Amino acid sequence: MNEKQFKQANANLNRSQQKPAKSGLSSGMIDVIDKNPSPLCKCGKPRQKVFVKWAGKYIHSKWCPECEYNYENEMAKQEIIHRHESIKKAIKREIEPIYYNSSLDDFSEQIKQVLIDKPADQGVLIWGKTGTGKSHLASALIKEALKAEQRAKMVRFKDMVLSIRASYDNNKTEESILRPFISCHLLSIEDIGTIRSGKVESDFCQDTLLTVIDARLQRNKPTIITTNLSPEDLWNAFGTRLASRFSTFLIFKLDGRDRRLDKN
Ligand SMILES: [Zn+2]
Repeated sequence: MNEKQFKQANANLNRSQQKPAKSGLSSGMIDVIDKNPSPLCKCGKPRQKVFVKWAGKYIHSKWCPECEYNYENEMAKQEIIHRHESIKKAIKREIEPIYYNSSLDDFSEQIKQVLIDKPADQGVLIWGKTGTGKSHLASALIKEALKAEQRAKMVRFKDMVLSIRASYDNNKTEESILRPFISCHLLSIEDIGTIRSGKVESDFCQDTLLTVIDARLQRNKPTIITTNLSPEDLWNAFGTRLASRFSTFLIFKLDGRDRRLDKN
């Protein structure tokens, strides 16, 4: 580089350093807009101008501010509708039709308060005679969880046992059958102790129930159990191993008078 070239390069450098930096609403930005007159929105109004930081310039958004606002509102509405639909589907999938409309409000204030006040991860053992509202209450609790967009499942103990037995013929593993019952946030196991009422449950039934309850306790996931048997009869039917698991459960009896509305 000769002296003349050196001076020229220096002068260029100084000139570029003296240029005001283009940022925010500098004249540089206005130029970008002026050179690109605003195209129109589908409604005929001028499109919205948006400053794009990474590009360092204004661009025209797809719509005018009003249409943009309406679009965002519509998207938000659609999302809410979609979530409501998913919740409805889950309720239909998990809850028996006669309990679709079940609610904690169907029960006495005392029952409601006990269930609301208990720690979120504590299990519940509901016992009482047939027709006292055990499934109704369990359904109401499952529905609450589903409405909060938690994964919740209801299963009859008999069906759980039968599906494991069937798995041996279907080349499925016991683990794959039990996985959804173990992984869901809230599980309700209906009618335990009715397979051979008044007698000792088979080892298979005892082991199945213990496997599910133990796995859920380890994961701090609450389980709801309903049964016609008194806790004493239940420990006799399932053995002391199960009794020890229930020491952490909230245990209460329904006698049918706790329901406000005699729907079922
Ligand atoms: Zn518009």
